[in-house]
Amino acid sequence: MVIGLFRFLVLVILAYVVFLFVRIWRAMKRARGRAVPPRSIRGVMVKDEMCNTYIPKEEALREARDGRERFFCSEGCRNKFLNS
Ligand SMILES: [Zn+2]
Repeated sequence: MVIGLFRFLVLVILAYVVFLFVRIWRAMKRARGRAVPPRSIRGVMVKDEMCNTYIPKEEALREARDGRERFFCSEGCRNKFLNS
């Protein structure tokens, strides 16, 4: 029981350290990213033409039509596009 709690604490501390590292790394990346055009940064934003919002490419729903790939924020927007 006590060992379990200790392990849990170690895990929490480790998670916190990782979290801090990620924050620092992100801040550094952001500072460096200013000189670089946004397209070269990972996590590209794509436009949902149905509701005119931007979503991260990896989260967007895709639909290819007329040899062009379209991106959608939700199933609803994709259906709207497919029914148009
Ligand atoms: Zn949408």
